[in-house]
Amino acid sequence: MSAVCAPTTRRLLRLALAGPPAAMQRHHSLDVSAPLLRTQGYVDGRWVSAASAFPVLDPATGQEIARVADCGPAEAKRAVDAAYEAFHSWKRFTAKERSVLLRKWFDLMTLHKEDLAKLITFECGKPMSESLGEVAYSASFLEWFSEEARRVYGDIVPSPARDRRILLLKQPVGVSSIITPWNFPSAMITRKVGAALAAGCTVVVKPAEDTPLSALALAELADQAGIPAGVFNVVPCSREKTPSVGEVLCTDPLVAKISFTGSTATGKVLLKLAADTVKKASMELGGHAPFIVFDSADVDKAVGGAMASKFRNSGQTCVCSNRFLVQSGIHDRFVEKLGRAMDAELRLGHGSEPDTTQGPLINARAAEKVVHQISDAVSRGATVLKGGRRRDGSFMEPTLLTDVTTDMLCTREETFGPLLPVIRFDSEDEALAIANASNVGLAGYLYSQDTSQIWRVAEALEVGMVGVNEALLSAAEGAFGGVKQSGLGREGSKCGIEEYLEVKYMCLGGLQV
Ligand code: NAD
Repeated sequence: MSAVCAPTTRRLLRLALAGPPAAMQRHHSLDVSAPLLRTQGYVDGRWVSAASAFPVLDPATGQEIARVADCGPAEAKRAVDAAYEAFHSWKRFTAKERSVLLRKWFDLMTLHKEDLAKLITFECGKPMSESLGEVAYSASFLEWFSEEARRVYGDIVPSPARDRRILLLKQPVGVSSIITPWNFPSAMITRKVGAALAAGCTVVVKPAEDTPLSALALAELADQAGIPAGVFNVVPCSREKTPSVGEVLCTDPLVAKISFTGSTATGKVLLKLAADTVKKASMELGGHAPFIVFDSADVDKAVGGAMASKFRNSGQTCVCSNRFLVQSGIHDRFVEKLGRAMDAELRLGHGSEPDTTQGPLINARAAEKVVHQISDAVSRGATVLKGGRRRDGSFMEPTLLTDVTTDMLCTREETFGPLLPVIRFDSEDEALAIANASNVGLAGYLYSQDTSQIWRVAEALEVGMVGVNEALLSAAEGAFGGVKQSGLGREGSKCGIEEYLEVKYMCLGGLQV
């Protein structure tokens, strides 16, 4: 099972969706040991300040939890230069030496998991149980790539000429710019950086403006682990400074590669910036996952999967199911059991409260988007079975809609919130046509007990990842990534490190053999 998402929804909670979220009533303070609460940028192994600072807010309360150095293009350039300088020595470290350092970094993350989880909960809003899951998942990439570092093999290929030998060498790409989103403030960094450092690349990380603290805590632990200066750099910045910092990271000639996780719209902007200097690019972009329940499915497993896939991080994950396609014969039983599970298991509140399963959305704009999708669906004939309303701040009630049709906004664009729309279908062909009618294709899920159907549908779904009778598919060992406009490349698995390697063909000639 993925460590990101211990099935909190199943394990935890009771309680209804009534009353104001506890987060708005009690005082919550971030209590983290000093060295991990870093507020300066980290460049060339040193903590650096900037001309100004920007606030980091607890999305549950709106309270400021820290002020962080607002790095600009000058700091970004210094970080790129430092990474370039460090690349010359880091690539000469043996694979085993790099492996040992990554493993130390992993051990330190594990040692400090409670503090790292608190940072995630306070800057991103997710419940502590999920934050602990994210820390374990995040650390698992350092562990995995510490192992993969030693298995970067080239090839010796039979030559067509007697006096020649053909070798394919694997070499690190170079300085890599890493730009990450707020919804997994730790794991989206290590999933890239673990692979990059293992391959011998150096990095400059620009974390999301909402969640810089987790990135800076990772820098502190990288320092403690002995990762050399300049190998891992972090330049936090505000939303205002983001375009100018992004421009340096995507256009500087010393940068060889960009790796981005975030929205498809931003990904396209960064790809255009990187095109002028023909940088390599990895893109992990938005999704619009179908979750298909066929008549033969085990309804309880399908309901459990739907709960875990939809309500984790309050619906703010790129692999969250966005459209629930349920076959006519099982539709009513599925909807009835799902409604009961929502009543029994979901509880809104501050992520640090022990029984919270549903934190806030990242900001008010995110909540407004969900409200807009609900009112659009209702105006076109959908029925609200559960929830439907926005609460104080950016809290949103988990919402169940039925009688949903494919003309509704919620079936056409990514929601990124706790809205579960159910579309009824009759035939497998109809379900596949609806599922594939999207210009993105990240994850897809299907519940069926018919083996032939499982193969047919899994092969026909236009997505990069398929969960079959399983809703939690993230793991360091699996290949994470999408097709269509969901992105380019894969992270994790044996594929992840390839994204940071070049193949050099070497031909040895004139041999007297
Ligand atoms: P976003 O695109 O708004 O922001 C992502 C990052 O890009 C942030 O660090 C942001 O500051 C930065 N950014 C924005 N404009 C930039 C610019 N001009 N130059 C440089 N950097 C810039 O996305 P978000 O709202 O933070 O995240 C949500 C999106 O991410 C969703 O669409 C979700 O599906 C996607 N996502 C995808 C994956 C995946 O692996 N495929 C994982 C998590 C999230």
